[in-house]
Amino acid sequence: MISFNSAKSVSSSVIPTNQAYVSSRKMVPPRQAIALISEHGDPAAEIGKDAAGGQNVYVRQVGEALAKLGWQVDMFTRKTKPDDAAIVQHAPHCRTIRLVAGPEQFIPRDELFAYMPEFVAAFQAFQSKEGTHYPLIHTNYWMSAWVGLQLKQQSNIQLIHTYHSLGAIKYQTVPTRPAIADTRLAIEQQVLEQADCIVATSPQEQEALRTLVSERGYVEVIPCGTDVSNFHTMPKTEARAALGFGSNESIMLYVGRFDPRKGIETLVKACAQLKANAEHENRATGTALNPAALRLVIVGGRDPDSDDIVEYTRIEQLVRETGLADQTTFAGQIGHASLPLYYTAADVCVIPSHYEPFGLVAIEAMACGTPVVASDVGGLKFTVVPDETGLLVPPQDVEAFTQAIDRVLTDELWAKKLRRQAPIRVQRNFSWSGVAAHLSDLYRRSLAQSISNTLCLGSPDVGGLDNSRAERTQLERQEVYPIHAEIAAPSALTKVS
Ligand code: UDP
Repeated sequence: MISFNSAKSVSSSVIPTNQAYVSSRKMVPPRQAIALISEHGDPAAEIGKDAAGGQNVYVRQVGEALAKLGWQVDMFTRKTKPDDAAIVQHAPHCRTIRLVAGPEQFIPRDELFAYMPEFVAAFQAFQSKEGTHYPLIHTNYWMSAWVGLQLKQQSNIQLIHTYHSLGAIKYQTVPTRPAIADTRLAIEQQVLEQADCIVATSPQEQEALRTLVSERGYVEVIPCGTDVSNFHTMPKTEARAALGFGSNESIMLYVGRFDPRKGIETLVKACAQLKANAEHENRATGTALNPAALRLVIVGGRDPDSDDIVEYTRIEQLVRETGLADQTTFAGQIGHASLPLYYTAADVCVIPSHYEPFGLVAIEAMACGTPVVASDVGGLKFTVVPDETGLLVPPQDVEAFTQAIDRVLTDELWAKKLRRQAPIRVQRNFSWSGVAAHLSDLYRRSLAQSISNTLCLGSPDVGGLDNSRAERTQLERQEVYPIHAEIAAPSALTKVS
């Protein structure tokens, strides 16, 4: 592995000429160190609770896969519990580093920005202590983007960014915009225009960036992935027996966080409708689904100290009100080791999100050969192929979800075709190793560009205006887009006591 721009490399002008080559070679670390920053999505956290979800999985999986490709990967997050280890070593060349930035406790995301200057300082202190310098930083989510922009302002780094969620879309669907909204929107625009590359996880996200955020900036599409050695097909009867579900049950599965924007309410109402329809049709013809055999399985953790408990309580109440209590299983937080059993046991996996930038659950379910009924939004339009791996329906449309789920549960021949095709699509397009290979290639080009000053990012076939970004020098960018022109300093915001 070539090493770029290491702080430990020594300028040849200060080394006696008789030993210059040998000694500088000795001091070059064997692997290039890179930093992934994920301020709130701790890559070492247990997935599925404490609001841990797709971002945590993405950073951890990408980090581990990049380490296998020869990088030294350091993943930085904020320390949220005093008892958590400061450093978690996942593999010989991949670790999570928890920086102290603000109180070591859960802080709601809308209040976290105030602690980002401390995060920057802690990151720099860590670099100094280790005697290293990360020439490439890949940030995740908008607050990490702000951290990355600060670091880029202070030293020569390549900044790559993945959004995971876009304020411009999120704020369209929430009843009230939080105080932080304008700051977030400004930073999301700034990072698009000033980062060396934005990684969009689907063509739909790239399109949203262009239409809702800015026409400037360079974007490459590299999807999320899944661990195809963990999520794979197995006999449904075995999975049901292992989990204690009956072989005659019609199982609908939800996997994910308890968050109103995940649309669990739509699924519960669709199940109630399905049951009512089945009862009615059975009375009339005796041929429909057995209403008593319908089972809704909801997988996902909730923490009494976190925001997700509010949504969990609301959904549990809705389940009772709709008469589904006896036919619903709240399975709680399930780790990735056992999750394939749930996907396999299910007849259909339902993803009723109001919006989903990518939606890892869709590809996990498909990898296990389970058809997906999902909202026709965001990255789900990219991963789920209608009639091939599942169905897409309008978000929050209870009737449409009811019909789509009914079709998967009753049209056996067609559902069998979906079960066969779904894993093939995932293996071909969405393995973590493939995703990491694309990212690794991007990092190499980005670093090569920084040391050679020649254009290695950008290609004529990447979305019209992306080329304009590639033609600008760093100096031009800084003149055109002064950093933090309209963004309030975090210190001006309220901190939790
Ligand atoms: N997840 C899990 N256990 C749970 C609930 C969720 O491991 O109990 C994982 C799930 O397998 C997926 C991630 O959390 O990998 C959710 O990612 P997704 O992109 O679907 O949603 P996000 O959390 O990013 O909104």
